[in-house]
Amino acid sequence: MDKNSFFSNIFSLLKTFFEQILETSTILFSWYLENKRDLPWRTTTDPYFIWLSEILLQQTRVAQGLPYYLKFVEYFPTVNDLATAREEDVLNLWQGLGYYSRARNLHYTAQVVAFQHNGKFPENYTDIRALKGIGDYTAAAIASFAFGLPHAVIDGNVNRVISRLFGIEKPINKPAGQGEIKIALEQIFDRSRPALWNQAIMEFGALQCTPKNPNCVDCPLNTKCFAWSSKKVHELPRKEGKTKVTTIFHSYIVMISGTKTYIQKRDTGIWKNLYQFPLIEKEMTVEEVVTHAIETFDIPGIVNFHSVREIDHVLSHRKIFAKFYTISLNTGYEILKNDIFETELDDLGKVFPTSVLTLKYLNQQKQHDK
Ligand code: SF4
Repeated sequence: MDKNSFFSNIFSLLKTFFEQILETSTILFSWYLENKRDLPWRTTTDPYFIWLSEILLQQTRVAQGLPYYLKFVEYFPTVNDLATAREEDVLNLWQGLGYYSRARNLHYTAQVVAFQHNGKFPENYTDIRALKGIGDYTAAAIASFAFGLPHAVIDGNVNRVISRLFGIEKPINKPAGQGEIKIALEQIFDRSRPALWNQAIMEFGALQCTPKNPNCVDCPLNTKCFAWSSKKVHELPRKEGKTKVTTIFHSYIVMISGTKTYIQKRDTGIWKNLYQFPLIEKEMTVEEVVTHAIETFDIPGIVNFHSVREIDHVLSHRKIFAKFYTISLNTGYEILKNDIFETELDDLGKVFPTSVLTLKYLNQQKQHDK
């Protein structure tokens, strides 16, 4: 091949490459402008608000995350406000959203930004990615939405759209599959408009190319879609090896003395720093619970077993079978133990943040007592 033909071939390959990007992004942008939802974090380039929204929305539906976002913005309008808040106040606002380590990391990272970066978010991908609780996806989202940097986001929606468009058969939850997703994504990622492109493809995955019932018939990308043309829409994306779910038992002792009860603060695990009724992490009989309560809390006199309520709670890797045993104590008696303290029953979940599991119990009990 002579020198002229070589350059002509390279030129034509590059032309095709850029035409493909332009064509796909033109279709995506026009779909996005017509269909996008109005969401408050889409109208800002403030990295603090973008970061807040991204952390709050991880593994959470927009409808569920939106009220939390509005509450956080109202209570903590700047990163300094969040940094100087008490952790309990942050956990209280977060209550009900689950994945509490995200709330603790959020608070910690706000302090790093406020005190080590003088309240200014880092402005490049590497420094953003180095912050605690920020992974590849969140770093790309902040870098592109706040600073217009050319980093493509890859979340569940993007994985699904790309694997279907390009017919990626390798499991997307394995390194080989992710490698193919990244290569394919680069072929259509519009580096000149990264923020708009990222928003558009994520919204497209959330509303058009949905997991169960994608609207392929009216899809503006269906002529380019491998999965649609080869009837593999419901086979893609593939995933391998489901997460093993372990079963565990929780026995909570709900000691009631008039309007008061006893709670403890957890110091480990996913519910670290949340409050709960005294817990024994195994299955127990009523007799064992009563004996345990008498021995552990030095309760004098008769303990009246009252009732037991069973609640199942599913987390990503665990299924918890919980039993809440209520026992009545004589009023006026005070249990003195370092790790448990007396409080109004009503304060659990209000003054003292607690897990979704305990909230479920409190709500069911309230319904029952009505
Ligand atoms: S044709 Fe269907 S599967 Fe393909 S991109 Fe469109 S909605 Fe997704």
